[in-house]
Amino acid sequence: MSGSKTSGEAEPVKAVEKATAAKATAKKKAMKKTVTTSAKAAAKPPAKTPASSATGESRTALVRRARRINRELAEVYPYAHPELDFENSFELLVATVLSAQTTDLRVNQTTPALFAAYPTPEDMAAADPETLEQLIRPTGFFRAKAKSLIGLSIALRDRFGGEVPGRLEDLVTLPGVGRKTANVVLGNAYGVPGITVDTHFGRLVRRWKWTDETDPEKVEAVVCDLFPKSEWTMLSHRVIFHGRRICHARRPACGACPIAPLCPSYGEGETDPEKAKKLLKYEKGGQPGQRLKPPPDYPGLPARPLGGE
Ligand code: SF4
Repeated sequence: MSGSKTSGEAEPVKAVEKATAAKATAKKKAMKKTVTTSAKAAAKPPAKTPASSATGESRTALVRRARRINRELAEVYPYAHPELDFENSFELLVATVLSAQTTDLRVNQTTPALFAAYPTPEDMAAADPETLEQLIRPTGFFRAKAKSLIGLSIALRDRFGGEVPGRLEDLVTLPGVGRKTANVVLGNAYGVPGITVDTHFGRLVRRWKWTDETDPEKVEAVVCDLFPKSEWTMLSHRVIFHGRRICHARRPACGACPIAPLCPSYGEGETDPEKAKKLLKYEKGGQPGQRLKPPPDYPGLPARPLGGE
């Protein structure tokens, strides 16, 4: 679940966000200059979804198209799920913190030894920092992440009776935990609906012109407004699945994309069906997935352990 975070999260993540935000502001300024008086005279966009102006669609048309994309994705990925291995809310919280700036695969290859050494918040709170750092080293930024893990474990032990809280306002008070991490935990360990805006989610919704926002919290607000609450968590999994398998950052496989007729960015990637097919990843490309222990309905191969890739 790589991607951006909000306040309180690991420093490297903040630095990446700052750079992204600066780029976005510069881009927006440049775009503003091109706005003409005729655009100003155009019908006022709805307050929360100005993205509809990007395709010239009405808000109703945008909502319909967005929901159709979600329905199509539900058919393509009926087995969509969080791609971090976890057995309880504490493991999911730890895995999500570790997933900043790395792949879920790398996290999944790292956590078996970590959870064996520190199965509970009490165990992790009492960890020797250097030992813990070495265990999580493959995930990168291991010093900052170790500090977060020990800090959040101490907070869980001392403030929450050793349990992971089930409320966003409590979760975001934990060291290294921002809104995205909190939403992942709430959605997948507690069944509380939430949108997870990671790097894949942000890229895809901008390609689909649901929004042109780059700030994860603004993207979250816009997308929440397009769908009923009950869809939020599964929509997040489906979009992230599609981003990993077909609509890649650098070479989207447009020619093999089942939602191409609904996508305003069709043609941004490879449109030749045969060439596009070769770009498919994970189960769509016949390769191992991200999880070492995928759910039983996952049609692909499990990921290989560390060193076995
Ligand atoms: S058509 Fe291309 S850009 Fe659009 S969703 Fe599919 S792969 Fe992504």
